[in-house]
Amino acid sequence: MKEVLLCKYGEIVLKGLNRSRFESILAKRLTQKLAACGNFRVERGQSTIFVEPLDKFADIDRAFEEAKKVFGFVSIARACEVQKDMDAICAAAKAYIPPYLAGASTFKADARRSDKRFPLSSPQIAAQVGGSVLEAMPHLKVDLKTPQITVMTEIREHAAYLHASAEKGAGGLPVGSSGRCLLLLSGGIDSPVAGYLCARRGAQIEALHFESIPYTSERAKQKVLTLAKEVSDYAGDFPVHIISLTRIQEQIRRNCNEDYFTLLLRRSMMRLADRLAEQRGCFSLSTGESLGQVASQTMQALAVTDAVPTRPVLRPCICMDKEEIVVLARKIGTFETSILPYEDCCTVFTPRHPKTSPQPEKVLAEERKADLSALEDEAFAGLYTVCTDEIDPI
Ligand code: ATP
Ligand code: MG
Repeated sequence: MKEVLLCKYGEIVLKGLNRSRFESILAKRLTQKLAACGNFRVERGQSTIFVEPLDKFADIDRAFEEAKKVFGFVSIARACEVQKDMDAICAAAKAYIPPYLAGASTFKADARRSDKRFPLSSPQIAAQVGGSVLEAMPHLKVDLKTPQITVMTEIREHAAYLHASAEKGAGGLPVGSSGRCLLLLSGGIDSPVAGYLCARRGAQIEALHFESIPYTSERAKQKVLTLAKEVSDYAGDFPVHIISLTRIQEQIRRNCNEDYFTLLLRRSMMRLADRLAEQRGCFSLSTGESLGQVASQTMQALAVTDAVPTRPVLRPCICMDKEEIVVLARKIGTFETSILPYEDCCTVFTPRHPKTSPQPEKVLAEERKADLSALEDEAFAGLYTVCTDEIDPI
């Protein structure tokens, strides 16, 4: 019996004239993700991408798990492909479906017929398939309203497909369909989630991390690289650029009023990020900031940092509670790494009384005292890059 994956698109079906561009990006992303699972054929058709194993080494269990991480699909199902013939379909219902119903006490059979030349209507197909399932598993009850499992028969152009295992896909839009975005990645909980969320809307991520050696350690950097690697499981491989802020931070500490340290540092980060984004063709920046979470994330403080970059700053966590961000961090597998106890450059020289309602002109006056432009040039010149496919997680 031939088992395939049916990966169904979400929003892409609404894309009108651009649809085929989105579809080909989606197929490319899926193909990349399946490369580690063996030999598969990936074929498009009727709002679905079909994934078919090409030899006995193709690992369909793993392919199923990997496909669930590809943005752009609303559902992924393992399905049995059969001839468009009711006898063959009913035989498959008896042989293929029972393991998926193990442990269930109720089910419902449903059918969809995109090939309208098929002689039976959808309710007729469903009734026959349901009958076959009941013959194989007579203890089951049919529950049309709240079934534990739905057995689906799809009559499509080339074949019929039976499945009882459709799971939610990753949603969103395929990575690369919305342009490139530079993610400011720290070792915290929020910025990896921000990266995941931007990628989920189709952004192709590059990351920028600021270190501050000797105030931050090699271990702290390894932690950030591990987070990048974890995000790349969804976002695809991406470069992580690293810039040292040590001399900038020391200069701010020597010359400026302590209450402004964090704000000045964040403005400096934004200037460097904007410059790198220009060089890398990134149309936006992204951060893990959340309104009111800390002093530098009040509206007034955000206005002061937001005034720096020339491109939009995407802040997907801005209106999320910490708890909601944590739920997502756990789901995508970054949480345990994020809570490892290593320092971040933002926690070095933190003011005792940070300004929560900074006045822009006072910030600018402090910034002039630091005279950071030569140091920023030097920091930018020292940038180096690691790609997520070269990272060994800690
Ligand atoms: P996170 O937001 O990652 O959980 P955090 O909340 O401790 O960490 P903040 O100090 O609140 O981080 O910083 C807010 C945002 O600024 C981060 O979400 C991240 O986008 C960016 N940022 C902070 N530190 C760094 C860093 N060392 N390198 C790059 N970006 C950083
Ligand atoms: Mg944060």
